[in-house]
Amino acid sequence: SFNAETVPQAPEDALFGLMAAFRRDTDPKKVDLGIGAYRDDNAKPWVLPVVKQAEDVLRKDPNLNHEYLPIAGLPEFTSASQKLVLGADSPAIKEKRITSLQTISGTGAVHLGALFLSKFYKTKSERTAYFSDPTWPNHFQIFSNVGISTQTYPYFSKQTKGLDFEGMIGSIKSAAEGSIIVLHACAHNPTGVDPTQEQWKEIANVIKEKKHFPFFDTAYQGFASGDLANDAWAIRYFIEQGFETCIAQSYAKNFGLYGERAGCFHFVTSPSSDAESTVSRVASQLAILQRSEISNPPAYGARIASTVLNDKELFAEWEANLRTMSGRIIDMRKALRSKLEEAGTPGKWNHITEQIGMFSFTGLTEQQVLKLREDSHVYMTKNGRISMAGLNTHNIDYFAKAVDKAVR
Ligand code: PLP
Repeated sequence: SFNAETVPQAPEDALFGLMAAFRRDTDPKKVDLGIGAYRDDNAKPWVLPVVKQAEDVLRKDPNLNHEYLPIAGLPEFTSASQKLVLGADSPAIKEKRITSLQTISGTGAVHLGALFLSKFYKTKSERTAYFSDPTWPNHFQIFSNVGISTQTYPYFSKQTKGLDFEGMIGSIKSAAEGSIIVLHACAHNPTGVDPTQEQWKEIANVIKEKKHFPFFDTAYQGFASGDLANDAWAIRYFIEQGFETCIAQSYAKNFGLYGERAGCFHFVTSPSSDAESTVSRVASQLAILQRSEISNPPAYGARIASTVLNDKELFAEWEANLRTMSGRIIDMRKALRSKLEEAGTPGKWNHITEQIGMFSFTGLTEQQVLKLREDSHVYMTKNGRISMAGLNTHNIDYFAKAVDKAVR
């Protein structure tokens, strides 16, 4: 029989614990480099101007109501999401080889994909999902919660603070045939290190050779480089190569819609005469999974994204907003690197500008991270990751000096 007294205490979520500690700190100089959310130059959350415009459009629409969305979500949102990630002229869309469901942001999309694979993806040996080491920590619990075992492939080189490409390829090569290989489409979290296009091609070759199943997590399209097509390059390349794949897409960062939970899950099958019917069977099963978990997704965030994605002028405005965010982050990278180099801070700092997206893996040790927190009220995760968006023209000097002090 069930006895709730036997339920053990679970550890606190590391990131949300860090946020709480930051809020408790009363020092006016405190710096928050923990959470992966964009901040403007005054360290404030930024509502994208294009989102405000979309909200105006929605407010004036006399036909809007609060009825349920369909199980698969807002159709004009999911179809625009397909075009955004695969490109408007993708053969996978024309050949109806893709099915898409609106999800509870990127997390919900990863979960729906993992749940679907847990039911329908069968392998000869134990079914295993491989994640980069390190990865977004939630990957582990999302997959293990649906009964898929998890493993890692090497990714980050502590020496170069870049990609351990040999290690990555070697590990994917030696994984049991048919493993699920989870890949960050761009702006890898937490390292900010992405494969080059040549390296992606080799990764695709090995995945094909070993009959693995690639699973893309794309949470930063447009946010990384400021260019939507560029940030979707790897996914589009894999689709061109004919892979069957899952794509988990988040609009949290690139629209600043974090709390609205707007995301999309896509299943794409390989070209074949049977593809359309395969996809329609997959869609029917995904609908049952979605129904049992959330019935139907929330409307507000998807309506905002859809309003922008389906309007030429708003779309162009969105692209400008994306360049504002990615540009400010790139400026902060340049400033931080040059301040550390000018001060002669021990170590090499080229990786700060070579990494991309929201995060930088600084190479600071856990001890140095704790020292920064105690001495300088700077908050970052223990692995030395900083959210670049937490830096701005008002605190970057202070932060660079704090790092200098901590590593000497
Ligand atoms: N995947 C990665 C790699 C992420 O970094 C994040 C957010 O930090 C997500 C997925 C999911 O985010 P959300 O559920 O807020 O869309």
